[in-house]
Formats: sequence, structure tokens, C-alpha cells
Amino acid sequence: MRYNPRRSKKESGVKPMIYADNAATTRLSATALEAMLPYLREHYGNASSLHGIGQEAAEALENARESVAAGLGWQAREIYFTSGGSEADNQAILSAAALGERKGKKHILSTAFEHHAVLHTLKKLEKQGFEVELLDVGPVGNITAEQVAAAIRPDTCLVTAMFANNEIGSVLPIAEIGAVCRDKGVLFHTDAVQAVGHLYVNVVEQNIDMLSLSAHKFHGPKGIGVLYARTGIPLVNLIEGGAQERGKRAGTENVPAIVGLAAALKEACEHRQENAEKTAALRDRLIRGLSAIPHCALNGDPVNRLPGNVSFCFEGIEGESLLLLLDGKGICASSGSACTSGSLDPSHVLLAIGRPHEVAHGSLRLSLCEENTEEEVEYILAQLPGIVEYLRSISPMWKDLLAGRRQFIL
Ligand SMILES: *Cc1c(COP(=O)(O)O)cnc(C)c1O
Repeated sequence: MRYNPRRSKKESGVKPMIYADNAATTRLSATALEAMLPYLREHYGNASSLHGIGQEAAEALENARESVAAGLGWQAREIYFTSGGSEADNQAILSAAALGERKGKKHILSTAFEHHAVLHTLKKLEKQGFEVELLDVGPVGNITAEQVAAAIRPDTCLVTAMFANNEIGSVLPIAEIGAVCRDKGVLFHTDAVQAVGHLYVNVVEQNIDMLSLSAHKFHGPKGIGVLYARTGIPLVNLIEGGAQERGKRAGTENVPAIVGLAAALKEACEHRQENAEKTAALRDRLIRGLSAIPHCALNGDPVNRLPGNVSFCFEGIEGESLLLLLDGKGICASSGSACTSGSLDPSHVLLAIGRPHEVAHGSLRLSLCEENTEEEVEYILAQLPGIVEYLRSISPMWKDLLAGRRQFIL
């Protein structure tokens, strides 16, 4: 019998047909939900209150901090709970910049394919007189530690490089980059939002000074994240007010979300290897199958790649149309382009790996997790080639390509 994607929705009641957009966000795990529930209705106190119900919340908060620390090889006092990955990125970068400025160092190194939470913060610093240098990520979409070593200057105050790219899945040589920074005495921050819970992350072994993570990328709740800052690194406040988070992040702690983050992280770390193996097998099956479509190309590092990331460019079509037709077939994917933010500009990540505009517009990102199945992958592989063919059949650009009025790029 033909696989019917709509059936699974009916059966589970919650899960959408085929969810292949796990890089955008993941489904809350049942374990995390169970852990959170008591902190919404029973132990709802303010962790700063001195009475019993407040102290229950305070205890849960510190237990969560200990649990996160244990999971990642950190000390509890190096953990600052934030509203997510974006806030952690902002705080890490602005803190390093403030420290650099005090020492007269105003050069910052990063990469051309960082998340906007990093790139836009760097733009802000440029306006304040910092010199920001973005390393070229090349056609494969990665950087080397040698590139970093060659670009560090005496006035470099920060290197910020993502652990793994959210659009094209490339995994950077973080330990080597960290070693170069440590050797040269430069602070090293990594946006590890796509990595934590999915890849081996160890701030001590990988020479990381500051790290950002976000719960909703590993089946935790949205709106909660962590900034890890090695002991001794002074942080600047983004939010002023109370003395929460040791005075570095004001505002009543979101205890249910923090408890959910800790539970999801523990679960993700415990099953990391088996989940990664299962997901990577699905990924490789998808990549092999999609590669058979003519005039397409895989984006990102083919070897050093996130276990769940499949990213392609298809020549002669618009990614947005592809997404709509996929959605019509019950497949939730993403273009990995900036279209979601209302802009028609193609993704800065695809441009950074040298995809020309017209090709970058035809992008598709399928991001998998361990909840996806072989059946789902086979269903995607059964649907996608026909959709691409249909879109090409109505594309003026494709007609030009076939007629030789335009050169094929892929
Ligand atoms: C999702 C994501 C972020 C933003 O995290 P939020 O918790 O949604 O603010 C930052 N960096 C990367 C690489 C991401 O994938």
C-alpha cells in the first residue's frame, strides 16, 4: 500500500504529516514536558522569594543549572540562562567587545555564514568603531584553523565562529580554532545552537571560552537558552533590573522552561550517539536520492556535516514555490533563505559559498531528527522529483536554460 502521510496526523493527533524542519525548531520531548508541568501549576513560585514555594523554584533552578553543567562538562557558575540562542550570542559578543575596547583592541574575526544573531550584533559594533572581518567559507562552506591563525592580529579581541551552520549543516573544526585562539590569547565564542544535543561538545577539550545554546533545537521549550562564559570573563548586561543570574541577566527566571531545557539536554546527551547515527542514515539516504535529480547540487560540507541536515539548490526553480508544493504534500521543509523574513534577497549563507543569486533562490533545506522514519524519507523521495520537474516545466528560466539562452550553472 502506498504510504499516506496524512494518516500519521490523524493517528497521533499532534505531529504534523512529515516534519523536516528541525533546524528551525523541534517538537518538545515528552520527557521535557513532564518535567516542566509541575513548575507551571504546583511549584509556581518566584525563585527570588524567600517563602517555601519560592524556594522550591529556586531549588529547581539550581538543580537545572547543575544538570546542564554536568551534561556539558561545565561548572554551574559558568552558566547564564537567557531567552534563547539569539540573546546568548548578543551578550557574548557585546561582552567580548566591551572587554576588548577597554584594552584598546577593536578587531573582531568571524565567518561569512554566521546566524543573523551574530552578524547583526557585529554590524552594530562596526557602527561603534569596531573592525569586523568575516572569513571566507569557500565553496564547501567551512573554514580552517589556519585561516583563523593567519587573520588574528595583535588588536583582535574576539573570534566568534559557529559550531555548525544552521542552513547548510557544515560542522567547523571548533577544537582546532579554539586551540589557535587560546594560543594567541584571543577570546573564542561559538554559536553552538545547532550542535548541542547533536554533536560532541566539550568546552574544556575544545578550548571554548563562551558558547551559546538554545533548548528548542534539541526538543526543549522555546524561549530559553544558555550563555556559557568561562569563569573570569566579565559579562555586560543586556537587561538591567534584578540580581537574577548573578546580576548578569535581570528578570524573573522562567523556571518551567529552564527545567524543560535541563531535561531535554540530559535526554539528548544520553541518546546523542544513537540519535545521530539514526538521523545520519536517513540524511544520507535523502542526499543520495535527491542527487539523482538533474541540475541540482548539495550545499555544505559533504563530510563534516550535521547528522540531520540536507540542503540542496535546484536550478531553474524558486525555493518558495517548492516549499508550498511540498507543504501541499504534507512535507514541512524550509528554503533556508531569507524569504521568511519578508525579504527577497537570497540566503547570505548560500551566497557565501558562492552560489549565484539565481541558483541560491532555488534552495531547499530538509532537516531531520531521530523522530523521522525511513518511510517518511521514501515518501519525500517519491514526491520531490516530480515537484521539481513540474516547477521547471512552468519556469521561464528553465526554458531559457534548455534553449541555450542561459548557461546551466549546476
Ligand atoms: C536557532 C538558531 C539561533 C537562535 O536561537 P533562538 O533560541 O531561536 O534565539 C542562533 N544560532 C543558530 C545557529 C540557530 O540555529
